[in-house]
Amino acid sequence: MAESLSRIGLAGLAVMGQNLALNIAEKGFPISVYNRTTSKVDETVERAKREGNLHLRGFHDPKSFVQSIQKPRVVIMLVKAGAPVDQTIQTLSTYMEKGDCIIDGGNEWYENTERREKAAAELGLLYLGMGVSGGEEGARHGPSLMPGGSFEAYKYIEDIVLKVAAQVPDSGPCVTYIGKGGSGNFVKMIHNGIEYGDMQLIAEAYDVLKSVGKLSNEELHEVFAEWNRGELLSFLIEITADIFSIKDNKGDGYLVDKVLDKTGMKGTGKWTVQQAADLSVAAPTIASSLDSRFLSGLKDERVEAAKVFKHGGMDDIISGDHGFVDKSKLIDEVRKALYASKICSYAQGMNLIRAKSVEKGWDLKLGELARIWKGGCIIRAIFLDRIKQAYDRNSELANLLVDPEFAKEIVERQSAWRRVVCLAINSGISTPGMCASLAYFDTYRRERLPANLVQAQRDYFGAHTYERTDMPGSFHTEWFKIA
Ligand code: NAP
Repeated sequence: MAESLSRIGLAGLAVMGQNLALNIAEKGFPISVYNRTTSKVDETVERAKREGNLHLRGFHDPKSFVQSIQKPRVVIMLVKAGAPVDQTIQTLSTYMEKGDCIIDGGNEWYENTERREKAAAELGLLYLGMGVSGGEEGARHGPSLMPGGSFEAYKYIEDIVLKVAAQVPDSGPCVTYIGKGGSGNFVKMIHNGIEYGDMQLIAEAYDVLKSVGKLSNEELHEVFAEWNRGELLSFLIEITADIFSIKDNKGDGYLVDKVLDKTGMKGTGKWTVQQAADLSVAAPTIASSLDSRFLSGLKDERVEAAKVFKHGGMDDIISGDHGFVDKSKLIDEVRKALYASKICSYAQGMNLIRAKSVEKGWDLKLGELARIWKGGCIIRAIFLDRIKQAYDRNSELANLLVDPEFAKEIVERQSAWRRVVCLAINSGISTPGMCASLAYFDTYRRERLPANLVQAQRDYFGAHTYERTDMPGSFHTEWFKIA
């Protein structure tokens, strides 16, 4: 009977799937759930019962799962990206019919989504690749959703995603139809790349304040809590403030000091940097955050290297007085450096999205992306309002740096930014993200770069030709004969 059919189905009940299913059910949409390992189905059903959630039903076999959904059937998959997605599609599509729709909510490589969309179309199925951001909490209480692919499929789920997504006062639900093909996955991937950049920049601010400013964890907690009341207000600054206040329950002191300095990763940051290279778009802040994760992984080598340089004066450099006796001035300047660096990082991420959009003909709306990232997701921040406004002022903006408001903010902060970077360099504290951002700004804003010399060298050894500043055309000089 139609009444007993679910509105939607969800397959894959690990952290993300289980929480998103409960969220959908809580919003009043009857949902069927399925997982390859059936104990997770029972666990999800039990959890729904405990939460008083009446709209969720579990299934142990894929056939009865698919058949429990009203037509046209919609199933969201939240399984490990790659082969598990293909295997799950294979399993589900056996029981699906023409006009039904499969949605991949995982962090999938966008070309896989495009390949699957085509294969699904051959079976008469619709397909969406929907980025889901916000981790466990977001999935449960309101994520940022980035659905891309079949617009017809999006229309099937629009009423659901508008309610399930995070709701931001004055900005609306954090979801929009992103665009065709793999655009939803691509945008989610760049979101993650931007997240890498944000986390790295925050870590560098922490390092300067701790290693040079000698701030204690209590002071760091206060500083980040204070920053979270101003222009840097964001989820990542908020959780950073929290982290500094957590005591170690397995020993003395604070937990943050016991966490091994090795950062993990799952791949979306690497894909972002690979895409930057493929698209010839400079993304040095995001790339430096990836490099920092690689270097953090070399813990044993770093321990040995520290011994090699121990007697090379490095300790004196780090502990020396670098003219920042005034802690409150240092804190203020680091905040400014962090904010200015962040503008550059977002400029890189947005330009990556635009370049891909042009290449693929996706016609992505950058301001709208900033809007749907304002809630639910890891990079949610008050700052995204300013990005939305910048693209509202000029949707063709070449770079966020030249938006009049951002340009003004950078100019106001650049002295502090330069001082903090110099201080870090002189102190032997690496700030690759801040340095990369500053170099990006200084390169982008210069009318003339030393690229003339590089081109002359290319022409010298490889006859690659060059253009001239004073006349049109392509030129080659036999430099070695003249020299
Ligand atoms: P996950 O650890 O990435 O994947 C576990 C799920 O995949 C389980 O349901 C597992 O089923 C299923 N699975 C693995 N191999 C399978 C196969 N060969 N056939 C069928 N199912 C298979 O789970 P997750 O952390 O919840 O993430 C789900 C997706 O969301 C991923 O793409 C992830 O990158 C993305 N994502 C995660 C987060 C996060 O914070 N965790 C945030 C945003 C996006 P079994 O139980 O049977 O093993």
